[in-house]
Amino acid sequence: METLRFFALKESLNRKPVTILETQKRSELFGKHVFGKDAMRQVLSQDAFEAVEDAINTGAKIDRVMADSIAAGMKQWALELGATHYTHWFQPLTGATAEKHDAFFEQTSEGRAIEKFEGAKLVQQEPDASSFPHGGIRNTFEARGYTAWDPTSPAFILDTTLCIPTVFVSYTGEALDNKTPLLRALNSIDHHATEVAKYFNKSVTKVTATLGWEQEYFLIDSALAASRPDIMQTGRALLGHAPAKGQQLDDHYFGSIPVRALNFMKELEQQCMLLGIPVKTRHNEVAPNQFELAPIFEEANLAVDHNSLIMDLMDRVASRHNLKVLFHEKPFAGINGSGKHNNWSLATDTGVNLLSPGTTPMKNLQFLTFFINTIKAVQENEALLRASVASASNDHRLGANEAPPAIMSVFIGKQLTAVLDELEKVTDGKLSPQEKTDLKLNVVGKIPEILLDNTDRNRTSPFAFTGNKFEFRAVGSTTNCARPMVVLNTIVAKQLKDFKAEVDKLIDKESMKKDDAIFNVLREYIKSSKKIRFEGDGYSAEWEKEAKKRKLSNNRTTPEALKVQIGKQVSSLFEEMEVMNTVELKARYDIELEEYIKRIQIESRVLGAIAGNHIIPTAIRYQNLLIKNVNGLKNIYEADYQELAQEQLELIQKISKYISTINKEISFMIEARKEANALDTKERAEVYQTKVLPFFDSIRYASDKLELMVEDKLWPLAKNRELLNLN
Ligand code: ADP
Ligand code: MG
Repeated sequence: METLRFFALKESLNRKPVTILETQKRSELFGKHVFGKDAMRQVLSQDAFEAVEDAINTGAKIDRVMADSIAAGMKQWALELGATHYTHWFQPLTGATAEKHDAFFEQTSEGRAIEKFEGAKLVQQEPDASSFPHGGIRNTFEARGYTAWDPTSPAFILDTTLCIPTVFVSYTGEALDNKTPLLRALNSIDHHATEVAKYFNKSVTKVTATLGWEQEYFLIDSALAASRPDIMQTGRALLGHAPAKGQQLDDHYFGSIPVRALNFMKELEQQCMLLGIPVKTRHNEVAPNQFELAPIFEEANLAVDHNSLIMDLMDRVASRHNLKVLFHEKPFAGINGSGKHNNWSLATDTGVNLLSPGTTPMKNLQFLTFFINTIKAVQENEALLRASVASASNDHRLGANEAPPAIMSVFIGKQLTAVLDELEKVTDGKLSPQEKTDLKLNVVGKIPEILLDNTDRNRTSPFAFTGNKFEFRAVGSTTNCARPMVVLNTIVAKQLKDFKAEVDKLIDKESMKKDDAIFNVLREYIKSSKKIRFEGDGYSAEWEKEAKKRKLSNNRTTPEALKVQIGKQVSSLFEEMEVMNTVELKARYDIELEEYIKRIQIESRVLGAIAGNHIIPTAIRYQNLLIKNVNGLKNIYEADYQELAQEQLELIQKISKYISTINKEISFMIEARKEANALDTKERAEVYQTKVLPFFDSIRYASDKLELMVEDKLWPLAKNRELLNLN
């Protein structure tokens, strides 16, 4: 009988690319399925339109009457575009998105049918959501959670469903999702960054955090994927020898995009246009079958929603192209893994990027203020930032030999290092007019021109300044961007709050001038945040040693990394900034740890099953062939057979050795799981990491050796080289 592998190979070789026509300009498609300003103007009354605008800009509440009017307009718009259902669309702590569709369709008392959608349904819903992770927040007697409309992220139509972005909170008000803390963190950074920006321009009234993510992913043929139980159930190849030709020749990076992948991208991009996701860049990545997609940056809340939405869209579109998307951080051993760089900055409502050097010394002092405060925030909270991207799958990047390392550091480049070195020498106390002029002319005034030729980009840095934004590169490709964005915006908000207090104190108590005070505080920050700055090679053993000396944390594993989230310092930070209370923080810690355990538990079970049911029987079958051959030789050549069958005999022995290794290691791994499962969450996670995980390598090693020995025809699993070939 044909094995699934050969059936899948045939399927994949016979694929015809699914052609995608592009008949309309992208600018014409853009935002058509989004209930944005244009759509609102068409269907809402002026009052209703202004109510939504106010809610977006100032967080003003929308009353019931107004909500009914908005809902009516939304329904009209959605029905015209063919929508039949609506859903509150939210991001529970699974990291994915959730939706439960209800039809607009309703029956009247006379038994007629109508399409109905009221304000109450728009504003709030109570999904039967008792099986979403809640980390003990929801006691059973108040098991209800409810979703509430987030007007800052516009509703959109996906397929035939009107999706309304919402937050998801418990009956007692605790956040059960990723969006609620994000909105609180964004509110906090808005407030504190605005206060600081006012030192430089009194007319600033709002500061928005901006996010531009870059999503990396792999594409493989769906039939080949289906032939691999490990890929289907865990998103990565737990077994499989690295292909002889991987990425050594660097021939994939920025190379021409394979036709099937390109057609997938075209369709995806069309859908993105309709949904108002401003995708701009697509290209091949370093590893075979690895690609990247990046939009133009947006306000952070919207950018986070768009990333969640696009991951969902990618799955849907890929299946129409007979492809499977792998978001896992390390789907294949021996070639690069995937990340999701988060480019982050702050923008004022006066149109200024606060992390972009300006054209005057004063604008540059503003730039330096935000720049140095960000570095200081990272320095104070490096372990928390690491925790915000911790997951079982991202440990394969941060904890292993992949870019970037688990040690957080900030790269700023040679020129800005020189600027900070100069600023560090600023006089303590009031500055003389001469010194100020000198600073403005020769240090602060010089930034734009030096940045232009600042081309040395450090690719191994987890947190790098790239000209007009910081790029947080440690974020994993599966991570919901809300997690790192909550942390980054909260720590910078706190830092700016402290900065403002210190500067004001110098102005009030020491009667310093504003810029003298700013120079003085920045000088101290430069000194105290030096240890987080690192310009060299993030992988090097020297850096690991040096980082240890600097007392920077180096948490290679998720259980180690997450611990900081339940420490005193972190809970007082989040409470002070009103982003999360201790109950919400503890819940997230528990959920993240549970998720870590479950991921490894599932992988371990899948690995045990395929090694036991696929690999060992195959090895035995091939060994039997060899034994038959040896017996045949013995029959013909009698005593001389030993010499003639020497190679076969050796192979028979090696196969036995690997079979025995796999068998034994599977039993030990099961024992380790049993030991772990009897423990409480924290210890269980640790035992999964220290005692279960190591068997993955030894089992894989033996199985991959067998893959190289066993006759190709007998091998039941699609080989990695086959998976990584997109015809
Ligand atoms: P690369 O880093 O690949 O050279 P770019 O510098 O053009 O490319 O930008 C990479 C990403 O950074 C893009 O997703 C872009 O939208 C985002 N980006 C650019 N400016 C900002 C900003 N001010 N805030 C947030 N993200 C930004
Ligand atoms: Mg980048």
